[in-house]
Amino acid sequence: MQILHPFAGSVQQYNEQLSDPDAHRPNHCPQCQDKHPLTAHGFYTRTLIDTAFDGPIHVRRYLCKACRRTVSLLPEFILPYLRSSLMVIALFLLARLFRGQTIVAAAGAAPPPMPYQRGQFWIRRFRAQAQTLCAALAVLTQPTPAPDFLQRALAMLESTGWIAAHRFLFAGARCHLLGWPRGLAPTGRRAAFSFAAAPA
Ligand SMILES: [Zn+2]
Repeated sequence: MQILHPFAGSVQQYNEQLSDPDAHRPNHCPQCQDKHPLTAHGFYTRTLIDTAFDGPIHVRRYLCKACRRTVSLLPEFILPYLRSSLMVIALFLLARLFRGQTIVAAAGAAPPPMPYQRGQFWIRRFRAQAQTLCAALAVLTQPTPAPDFLQRALAMLESTGWIAAHRFLFAGARCHLLGWPRGLAPTGRRAAFSFAAAPA
């Protein structure tokens, strides 16, 4: 299970605090609700593309000794299962959908420049998720008058702040800002997980 790291800052600041397992150790298990602090359980590596960073980062993992399941602490500038940071995705969506740049121009101007197909993929997911975002974010900010859900969702994300919105959606409703991949919907957990965890 992935939960958000209770840490705000840059990629570099994130890397600097990562060596201390006690800094953000969860004091209970979010899966079985066991009340004991979780045990540090190494890291996994994933790729991150940010505005000024492109490379591997470590994600810290903890183990619950009661239910034997792991919890990983995902930094809040990352959306689960996407390589590009939330900020890179936000800049692209704003360039294409808010300012009306062509998809090729928006992809070329995105820091760092990227293949436009990647942007198409984000737009498709964002479009499918827009109405859900408008409903969920209405708790945080006034719905903005806009011609459609897409524009309204963008305006609401801008007024809330993309990272604040992501934190709220993910921690509360386990809602993915761009929608979970189909196999993991609706909450981002693998349906097969309970089978894997069951005794043989
Ligand atoms: Zn547990």
